[in-house]
Parts: sequence; structure tokens; C-alpha cells
Amino acid sequence: MQVCIFQLNICRLPFFLALLLALPQLTEKKAHAESARSTNFLVSGGDRELVIRVAKAAEDYRKSIAVAWLGKPLPNWLRPCPIKLRLTGGEAGGVTSFTFDEGRVTSQEMTLEGSPERILFSALPHEVTHTIFAWHFGAPMPRWADEGACMLSEDSRELARQDGIVKNLMEGQKHLPLKTLFSMEEYPKDLLGFYGQGYSVSRFLIEIGGRERFLSFVGEGAQNRWDEAVRKHYKLNNTNELDRAWRSWHRVVAEQREPGESDGKATLIAMPGNRPRAVSTITPIIRGQSGEEPLRR
Ligand SMILES: [Zn+2]
Repeated sequence: MQVCIFQLNICRLPFFLALLLALPQLTEKKAHAESARSTNFLVSGGDRELVIRVAKAAEDYRKSIAVAWLGKPLPNWLRPCPIKLRLTGGEAGGVTSFTFDEGRVTSQEMTLEGSPERILFSALPHEVTHTIFAWHFGAPMPRWADEGACMLSEDSRELARQDGIVKNLMEGQKHLPLKTLFSMEEYPKDLLGFYGQGYSVSRFLIEIGGRERFLSFVGEGAQNRWDEAVRKHYKLNNTNELDRAWRSWHRVVAEQREPGESDGKATLIAMPGNRPRAVSTITPIIRGQSGEEPLRR
């Protein structure tokens, strides 16, 4: 029997809003008619300059993030991933949904929210990283690792925000035992704390062992073998020992850094000075009324 799996990644949005965004056909107003198509993405919802810029940046991130995590770019997808933009002028947010079947992604779509800058340097690299992990695992990745590792693709401003959240979490003793964090399949009520702890634990594991080991660890642990995976990949006896090691690292290493500081190991792409620029190789599309075929320029 074939089992089709649906996964929704909700990234920093209030839950009710995220649900609305997941149903764009009910809520979307056609504020912008412009779209841009690149090889692997179809971007809509902004003015012409922005949709082209986002499409180009999405391709750049897709390539560089895949090389960083997997050692090589992904093959082109059979269908472009739709990206819908919602320009709020505020902070970054995003939702990406996937359908998996027989160990492969069979559909995916993305909604990004915020100002153009926050979309380009925070929401977009985060959500593109979700697509890399979905392609790699062909199944939902454990939530803490999926969200935590995607944060590492974002710019220093978002890293600083996460560092502040983790600091408060640890000072208030509100962090979860890793055994609990690892086994969580759904988002908890304290979304900010959940993202923050996932970010911190992912950063710790990648700093001490690299990205390839992190993915192997997460893939094996997800089979409900977290203690075994800890022994195999990090040479510690169990998840409780890893928990103590992570808290020590937080005190001795992470707390001593400036908020938002990159370490050159775990953090990745969207840093100031490394910003993707638009080029004219993307095909702009003008959409007509809803339901019409797009018209290429
Ligand atoms: Zn996310």
C-alpha cells in the first residue's frame, strides 16, 4: 500500500496566520500581477524587480546550500516550486508544504512574508534549506533539526535574534531535555523556544561534527534510535550525556560570542557582504486573470 505523507513547515508565523497562508486560494488578493520563472522556481506576488530578484536568489541559495550540506547541487526538479510573496513590510515568515510518496518529494510550495530585505536574506534561505532536506531525506525530517538547521542559513540579524531567544531560554531553565526535544513530531505552544533550542542544538552538533555527520545522526535518530545514534556519531553514551555536553557548550562557547556572530562552521549563507544579486537570466511572466495561462515576455 502506498502511503502519501504531507508535511507543513511553519516558520515563525502565528499559527492561525500560517494556516491561512497554507490556503492561499481562499485568502490571497492579487495585489501584484507579476511573476518570474527560473529553472526551479516560479515566484509571484511582488513587483517585477522583486520577483526576478527572488527567483534568482532562490536558485543561488538552492545551489550553494545543497553544496554546503550534500557536497553537490540538486538535480533540477521536474516542476518549479511555486513561491508566493506577501509583502508586509515586517519581519520574515514562511511556510513550505511538502507531499512525500515512496521516499520522494512529489509536490512542494512556499509562501514567504516580510519586507523584501527580510524575505531575501532570512525567509528565503530558510525555506530553500527545507527543500534541500526534504529532497535528501524523502520524508519529514525531525522538527527540531529541520527548523534548527534551516535557521543556520539566515543572516546575522536573524542569528542574533535566535541567540537572544536561546539566552533567555537557558536563563529561565525553560529548555527541554534533548530526549523530549528529539521525539517531538509537532510544533509545541512555545514556538519561539522550540525554534531557538533547535537552532542552538543543531549549531552545537554541526560545530563539533560537521554537516554530514549531523544529517546521518538525524536520519538514524529519527528511527527512534536516538541513544544509539548518539553513541555512533558523537561517541557519547546516550542522549542525556549529549544534553550535558550541549549545555556546557552553550555556557563556554555560545554565550561568549557576540549575538549573531558567525562561526564559519555551522552558519552558512545569507551574511552581509554575501548577498545574492539579481541578473537578467530569469524569465518574467505576466499573469492575466485567475485561471489564465501565463504569458511569457
Ligand atoms: Zn522552517
